Amino acid sequence: MPVLQQTWDNSAFFSGSDDPQIAATVDRIRAEIDTLATLCAPFVEQIEPAEPLVQAQFEELLAQVRTAHQQRTATAKRLGNLRTFISSILSVDSRDASASEWKPTLQQLSAEISQATKALDIFLLRVDNAFFQAIIADPVLAELSFSLRHQRQLNDQLLSLAEEKLITGLAVNGLQGWGNLYTELSGTLKCTVAGDTVGLAKAFNLLSSPDRTIRSEAWHGVNAAWESRADTVAAILNAINGWRLEETKQRGHHRRLHYLDKSCHQSRIDRTTLDAMMAATYDRRAIGQRALTAMGKVLDIQPAPWDLFAPPPAAGQTEGFSFEAAIDLVANAFRQFTPAMGDFAMMMAEKGWIDAQPTSNRATGAYCTSFAEPKEPRIFMTFEGSMNNVLTLAHELGHAWHNWVMQDLPRYKTFYPMTLAETASIFAETLVRDALFEQASTPEQKLKIAWEEGAAAITFLLNIPARFTFEQKLVEARQQGFVIADSLKGLMRDSWQHWYEDSLTSYDEMFWASKLHFSIAGLGFYNYPYLFGYLFSLGIYAQKDHYGAQFNDLYTKLLRDTGSMTAEDVVLRHLQQDIRQPKFWQASLDIVDRAVSRLESLVV
Ligand SMILES: [Zn+2]
Repeated sequence: MPVLQQTWDNSAFFSGSDDPQIAATVDRIRAEIDTLATLCAPFVEQIEPAEPLVQAQFEELLAQVRTAHQQRTATAKRLGNLRTFISSILSVDSRDASASEWKPTLQQLSAEISQATKALDIFLLRVDNAFFQAIIADPVLAELSFSLRHQRQLNDQLLSLAEEKLITGLAVNGLQGWGNLYTELSGTLKCTVAGDTVGLAKAFNLLSSPDRTIRSEAWHGVNAAWESRADTVAAILNAINGWRLEETKQRGHHRRLHYLDKSCHQSRIDRTTLDAMMAATYDRRAIGQRALTAMGKVLDIQPAPWDLFAPPPAAGQTEGFSFEAAIDLVANAFRQFTPAMGDFAMMMAEKGWIDAQPTSNRATGAYCTSFAEPKEPRIFMTFEGSMNNVLTLAHELGHAWHNWVMQDLPRYKTFYPMTLAETASIFAETLVRDALFEQASTPEQKLKIAWEEGAAAITFLLNIPARFTFEQKLVEARQQGFVIADSLKGLMRDSWQHWYEDSLTSYDEMFWASKLHFSIAGLGFYNYPYLFGYLFSLGIYAQKDHYGAQFNDLYTKLLRDTGSMTAEDVVLRHLQQDIRQPKFWQASLDIVDRAVSRLESLVV
């Protein structure tokens, strides 16, 4: 086998962070933003026109929309390439000075593009139906049809242009200020673990130590640190949720939106679907609880909150996959499903589109990104030869495959919501996990894979739902008034009790402070899309054998539609299943059930 490159090659875009072409591109983008602002200026008057639009105006206005749209797409792609390039450099070397300097400039340009096109956006959301029909009938603008149709469902929640601008302006130092305060706190808080003073990120990593004493010290240390700032975090959660409730009230003059309806709209799912998924998961919460019990048996402990990230007993030993062997293994597993997907994985490595070489100063974590023009995916991760690394590689290659099958679609048909973003990645991971399990020759190897599956079942079927229940309780309590830190603890305890029941010896009552997701200013109910993605992907995987040879074609078409349909429509169209019904979710839960039984069968 040829030696595969383990570092990426992005030199086709720019030669490096000191390439003079970067400054030239930034200048060009600045000039294009000026053009965009000029092109969008006429729409300010069209937002609240004195007279309704008449047919005679259509053609001229349509031409203006088309020109502005094309300019925006071109500028966004140019900026997209530059942003991907600069972040690719920073991922590999966080100390790269020129890239660090460019980063805020690019963020600023991105904000300037949305400001320049704000009037066009509001116009498109408000314009009457006759003109909207003309827009979606236009060959150039047709790519906007799903996205606009979807956003226009909440037309009645829009305020006047002046009020919209006021909210956006005030939110920078209001709503977002609270989120920033949380980020700052979590970056500066320290705790003591095994005699060392460490930051919270380091302490969090120690939660996966094989040594239970270290795990316990890390968990207690993190919680003591947050306890010392409990009132501050309570103020943050109250401010963020209070802001959202007030904004919903102000927007709700015609129709008061339920907080979950708003979230479902962002996730492009029906409220019925969310309810069916949560109810089906609650019915089967014993699956996650059984996984926790099985893992406790292996470790000979009664699981406590500090054991949730405990590794399997033999995890310390290196598994010694070479990068070549890992790519080969993943490509073969993909190939058994469909040859094209296997060839694609190989191509990603051969073309130098993956950066996985462990080097100093590189970022932690793994992600898949892509250049905008030409549309090419890239994967960043750190490969050190563990089985976990192989699964991460499979996961990210799944994301890349999702991008790849949408490659020829117009830009606005490629934006999929968070609920559908993990479909292809978890699907790919499942393919490889199944292959690994089949190949595993010793009980230890089998246990490692089964352990990962058990850990996923615990996170998705218990932890994420507990977050959901907590957030619901929080929003409802906030509607009545300020929720003090002690009450937040109580709400969190109740939420954990509701899902974990007796499978844990105690509950994580400071989780509202330690989990950053509750303090994200921009988005409420950040967590259930993960459960959705996990079960949704398994639900699709469950159809694989049923459709046999036809399945790959169906799956590819399904992925291609994730940017231009609701989740319900995607599944109905391609698999004739209704995700509003508990039955769809039960089939996914059956798969998790079998995986947990597999773990139990390995626990003597
Ligand atoms: Zn992912």
